[in-house]
Amino acid sequence: MSKVAPETSERILACEDCLLPLPLRTARRGEVDAAWECRSCGARVHGVIAEDRPKKLRRNVRRCSQR
Ligand SMILES: [Zn+2]
Repeated sequence: MSKVAPETSERILACEDCLLPLPLRTARRGEVDAAWECRSCGARVHGVIAEDRPKKLRRNVRRCSQR
């Protein structure tokens, strides 16, 4: 199944479950998103690293080996 990603990406500012700040954004068209896990509650989030977010936030997510 494939869906067409939008031209623009949206920031994923925080985990929906525990509101932990996240350094992620949604994938733009042509980008491949990855599965991340919230370090606090373990919720799965799909996205890519947002380069404009503080680097220290990257410790709040863990890359999942499976999508
Ligand atoms: Zn969380």
